[in-house]
Amino acid sequence: MTTRNHCLERDTQDPLAPLRDQFDLPDGVIYLDGNSLGARPKAALARAQRVIAEEWGRDLIRSWNTAGWFELPKRLGNLLAPLIGGADGEVVVTDTTSVNLFKALAAALMMQAHDPERAGRRVIVTERANFPTDIYMAQGLTAWLDRGYALRLIDSPDQLPAAVDADVALVMLTHVNYRTGYQYDMKATSALAHDAGALIVWDLAHSAGAVPVDLHADGADLAVGCTYKYLNGGPGAPAFIWVPRKHQPRFQQPLSGWWGHAAPFAMAPDFQPADGIARALCGTQSIVSLALVECGLDVHRQASMAAIRAKSLALTDLFIELVEARCADHPLGLVTPREHARRGSQVSFTHPHGYAVMQALIARGVIGDYREPAIMRFGFTPLYTSYADVWDAVEILRDILDRKDYNVDAKRDAVT
Ligand SMILES: *Cc1c(COP(=O)(O)O)cnc(C)c1O
Repeated sequence: MTTRNHCLERDTQDPLAPLRDQFDLPDGVIYLDGNSLGARPKAALARAQRVIAEEWGRDLIRSWNTAGWFELPKRLGNLLAPLIGGADGEVVVTDTTSVNLFKALAAALMMQAHDPERAGRRVIVTERANFPTDIYMAQGLTAWLDRGYALRLIDSPDQLPAAVDADVALVMLTHVNYRTGYQYDMKATSALAHDAGALIVWDLAHSAGAVPVDLHADGADLAVGCTYKYLNGGPGAPAFIWVPRKHQPRFQQPLSGWWGHAAPFAMAPDFQPADGIARALCGTQSIVSLALVECGLDVHRQASMAAIRAKSLALTDLFIELVEARCADHPLGLVTPREHARRGSQVSFTHPHGYAVMQALIARGVIGDYREPAIMRFGFTPLYTSYADVWDAVEILRDILDRKDYNVDAKRDAVT
């Protein structure tokens, strides 16, 4: 039987434990929501001050050159690339995940349309349980194209083989599901798409910085993802898009703004896409927010993805074990896969009063979140979550459930 002392012991032997000191977390908070908004790297405050006071305030417009603002999306992309198995010159940090997904889907459909053997394909396959914005963006694109393009939604991963037939242009999947924490086998799934003549676009929102990703080795075609979740970039921090070098010449995206132009300051009247990854850019970036992304990446570079994964699995295993042992009398249902290979870095449990229980947890300093239907979501971020945190979080959960110390009439906030 695991005890709190066992957890403290594991913390003393944890090679990642010292990295927690690089984050500013308030006392009395056990933060299990780094999958939604990563904690703040301490360095971000000084970085923000420097961008605002020196780069903007003192150096003014010269900073586009002198502070490297113009190159920032590419420079940060190169720092991020190793975390997802991308190469130099294949990633930019820019825009939002939703917008990058639109670019990726449109470019992939265009690649297929220009291939004589695949030009007639009109179907995008994704899953009903995908993060809604992914589905919405695909719906918006297909409706706008108005050329017979349509979405095909599967209800579970095992329906994928049957759904990917000769009409399918594109498979669009989120690698780790935001609600359940289910992780796709990227290699097998990419091969399945390719064998059927489809391209595959991966959303890494819940993968980048959370689980090992090897886009090249696993045969992905295009990918997008978030920096404000496990990468600790800050609220609304710009997202990323990966276009492998082999696809770059054919990657034509419709948001052809001047930052994607071959010579933005030639001010030419015609759009000519840049060679390379810059063609995935659109317009001027929010530099203050973009600059802070580097602080999260800096912390990540001090740990190996293998060490992060090993601790993530240990934390999620421990959480599952403790909840099942210590809250056994309560109607909690595990929805996250037990199998390591199929699990991301979160654990989700259903409870009939999931929203109310989560509000009670938050009131007592255990911050997770809630997603319909009835799902309490707990994210585990090995850079700053300790084994003792897991123990303490479960004890607070047990206490709340044992004493029914939650308000089932709690009013819903706008963000759950
Ligand atoms: C978090 C998340 C998003 C967020 O998209 P934004 O454009 O940043 O709002 C998109 N897709 C998935 C799968 C996510 O988990």
